[in-house]
Amino acid sequence: MRLIVQKFGGSSVANSERLLNVARIITDTYKTGNSVIAVVSAQGDTTDDLIEKAKEINPHASKREMDALLSTGEQISASLLAMAIESMGFPVISLNGRQCGFATDSNHSNARIKKVDTERLERELDKKNIVIVTGFQGVNRFDDITTLGRGGSDTSAVAIAAAMKADLCQIFTDVDGVYTADPRLVPSAQKLEEISFDEMLELASCGAQVLHNRSVEMAKKYNVKLEVCSSLERVPGTKVKEVTRMEKLLIKGVAKDDDVVRIAVIGLPDKPGIAFKIFSMLASKKINVDIILQSIGRDGTKDITFTVPIDSCDAALELLKAEQDVLRAHSIEVDTDVTKVSIVGAGMASNPGVAAKMFEALYEANINIQMISTSEIKISVLICKDQGVKAMNALSETFIK
Ligand code: ADP
Ligand code: ASP
Ligand code: MG
Repeated sequence: MRLIVQKFGGSSVANSERLLNVARIITDTYKTGNSVIAVVSAQGDTTDDLIEKAKEINPHASKREMDALLSTGEQISASLLAMAIESMGFPVISLNGRQCGFATDSNHSNARIKKVDTERLERELDKKNIVIVTGFQGVNRFDDITTLGRGGSDTSAVAIAAAMKADLCQIFTDVDGVYTADPRLVPSAQKLEEISFDEMLELASCGAQVLHNRSVEMAKKYNVKLEVCSSLERVPGTKVKEVTRMEKLLIKGVAKDDDVVRIAVIGLPDKPGIAFKIFSMLASKKINVDIILQSIGRDGTKDITFTVPIDSCDAALELLKAEQDVLRAHSIEVDTDVTKVSIVGAGMASNPGVAAKMFEALYEANINIQMISTSEIKISVLICKDQGVKAMNALSETFIK
């Protein structure tokens, strides 16, 4: 008997009709002789609504209480879905993160899964139950509820698939697969039959929210058979796997990340150890720095500019301002009106000229580049926020059509 893990995102379970549709997908899989564990997200915009509700009460609520609140969204979906399946006459049980053994670290709002204790899951499957699991959550060693970061239900599903050695992990969503760019923003985007773990990881990390980046990281590590497909149409989706067939596409995708800000530390003394001081300070607070640029200023000074995720901006500024005198920085500037646009493809490592072609496409679209970073399989540029969609389309036209 095959074990299949199926994950359903917020729009797939948004209302009663959609929940019944999902119940049919699950029971059809079960009826053909498979064991099924289904992982669900909160319905529609529930997580955003809960965040808003919390802000009304206390804009500075502790992360522990935020996690306790946000985890309830998934609990509503899981129990409603179990009720839908019950009504269709199938054996089913819903479990929350704690009941199905998700142990995480204590990094509230962005916790990492340490272990999935599969005992309860196995017991329920032995009883021939369909098991519905709340995504996005676990408990830390103090028995407090934690959440895995926005979009984290994908990671819950892959973690269960890895721990249970499932035969397949299907991520059902509101598009029918992974495209070369967000099909809602880029009409020329093409659906990919398959994509490698490495390319998918880069795309997800560069802002393609169709998969949570940690889910891809985990699928690669444990070699989980992963598929992205539509919950609304029964058509073949996209397979995410270790090695893919050679394709003529040099660039596998274009992604945009609006959740970045640019911070500039201006007029630093131009001597050794300054970059070390700044970035070790940020690292000690677990602030992820992405693109970095150092430039020569006037009169023996230099400027260091870098990007951080928008939700780390306040923490980064607080740290830098507290140390501004020690660093002997002239000023600290922030720009939130930026977006990061990236092209990703394993093929670019062995093809010179990709960067030049990218910059030419942006130049022709009259888009100014503020910062650039490159790696083996991706090139990112930081540009003005309102030009993000235009840039994605220009790059899609150049590399994909
Ligand atoms: P879910 O609620 O099912 O987790 P998400 O909203 O997190 O769904 O992810 C699906 C969305 O990801 C799609 O509706 C699409 O707009 C967006 N998306 C961004 N980049 C891509 C891409 N390269 N391929 C497909 N979808 C993408
Ligand atoms: N409900 C959570 C969120 O909106 C987790 C998820 O959907 O994956 O981020
Ligand atoms: Mg998602």
